[in-house]
Amino acid sequence: MSINLTDLKPSASMELTRMARAIKEEGRTVYTLSIGDTHFSLPKSLADEAQNIPDASSHYGPAQGLLKLREALAKRYPGYEAEDIVIVPGLKQGLFYALEAIEGNKVAVLEPSWLGYQATCTLAGCDYIPVNTYSTDWLNALRETSFDILMICSPNNPDGSILSESEISEIRDIITSKNAWVLLDVIYERYTYDEMDSLATFKPLQDYPKILIGNGFSKSHAMTGYRVGYLLIKDQSVRSNVLKIQQNLATCASSHAQHLLSLNPDPEEINSFAKYYQENRQTVLGIFPEWSQFVPKGGFYFFVDLGIYGIIDASAFCLTALKQDGIAMVPGAAYGTGFDSYIRVSFSLDRSELEEALNKLKNVIKSYNA
Ligand code: PLP
Repeated sequence: MSINLTDLKPSASMELTRMARAIKEEGRTVYTLSIGDTHFSLPKSLADEAQNIPDASSHYGPAQGLLKLREALAKRYPGYEAEDIVIVPGLKQGLFYALEAIEGNKVAVLEPSWLGYQATCTLAGCDYIPVNTYSTDWLNALRETSFDILMICSPNNPDGSILSESEISEIRDIITSKNAWVLLDVIYERYTYDEMDSLATFKPLQDYPKILIGNGFSKSHAMTGYRVGYLLIKDQSVRSNVLKIQQNLATCASSHAQHLLSLNPDPEEINSFAKYYQENRQTVLGIFPEWSQFVPKGGFYFFVDLGIYGIIDASAFCLTALKQDGIAMVPGAAYGTGFDSYIRVSFSLDRSELEEALNKLKNVIKSYNA
């Protein structure tokens, strides 16, 4: 099958980054509230050890991934062993493998959703079937939707929502009745606040046979550029399909990055990232107390309905804010249908920069409709 390049849209966030860069090149300040990346550098506990990486790290490694790293990962997921894990060059690519490897091409996605899912469906020749979780009784709508694969992201990008255990229970019921696969994207799993364990809410799915879990180091370890993600797959036939694709498309994920990650980063240092963003979340609320209705439980974004200010076209607002004031934000339309008045505001920034950006944004909102 050839890729449908007409349906494949350029990444909206990357286009925004390009516009923001152009403004920067004019010598103006740009506030990147659009960022989908942490502002932290490579964890110091890894950087300090980098010279201890073996020479082999500059060569091809095993297609499934470095055993040492897979063994360490398996310890975090009860019921999984190293052989159930495939290390991939970023979860984005891993999700493409998954859609290719699993039978069925009707993919239900819970919106608002990360903009990558639609593109991945297009690349894999799958139908993208949105289900709006902001509508009342969305679980019933999901029940009435015909699909082969359900994609779940929790904590969710863009709104930081976390599905509750009772919602997951109901989802299990629905997918069982349809004999469907479920793909769990838990890439923001370390960024949960209010002492919540987002992985624990998946308990009702623990023994569901048609499950694939995707995670990665991009967000948790501030390593987006190293391109390391991983898939947990118990189903042997899907796992061997994934491996065949990886062998023939990428050979392996970066050996260097896998060796580096096997050096055991300091867990305290990794946890400190989430603590910092938890405080940033408070900083946002200090400046915008009216956003308390949009507080994310996880992730590092606020998904805000500008309707509270009487602004209904968030795309036009974002364009003005970027061109006139250098504030980059992603308009809600990028995350599905029905979110035209929303913006995604990232708080994964250095705190002083965040404060400056938000105070500026406050003035932009005030003057926009005046
Ligand atoms: N899943 C979600 C929800 C994301 O937001 C992203 C990146 O923004 C990814 C997956 C892709 O992550 P990776 O860098 O591992 O490809």
